Amino acid sequence: MQSFPTQLVRFLFFTEVNGIPVCLVCSQQVSVVKKYNIRHHYETHHAERYRGLQGQPRREKVKELIAGLFYGQGLSVTYKTLAQKTSQL
Ligand SMILES: [Zn+2]
Repeated sequence: MQSFPTQLVRFLFFTEVNGIPVCLVCSQQVSVVKKYNIRHHYETHHAERYRGLQGQPRREKVKELIAGLFYGQGLSVTYKTLAQKTSQL
């Protein structure tokens, strides 16, 4: 299985949990793994708020959101897994 594209994580605030794309900001799942759907969700709900966040601050925000999402869902995620998910950001 192809790993989730880094650009979707960093630019659209999405990651995947058990193969399903999940929004990092609102935890909503998008059933169709298509960039269009993911982009549409981001632009409709979150683009306004995060437009000004670029570069390193954006990467830090993404890491923070990923950590929050995984812990919030009670998923057993180790720091190693977290590091792997965020290392390419
Ligand atoms: Zn969202």
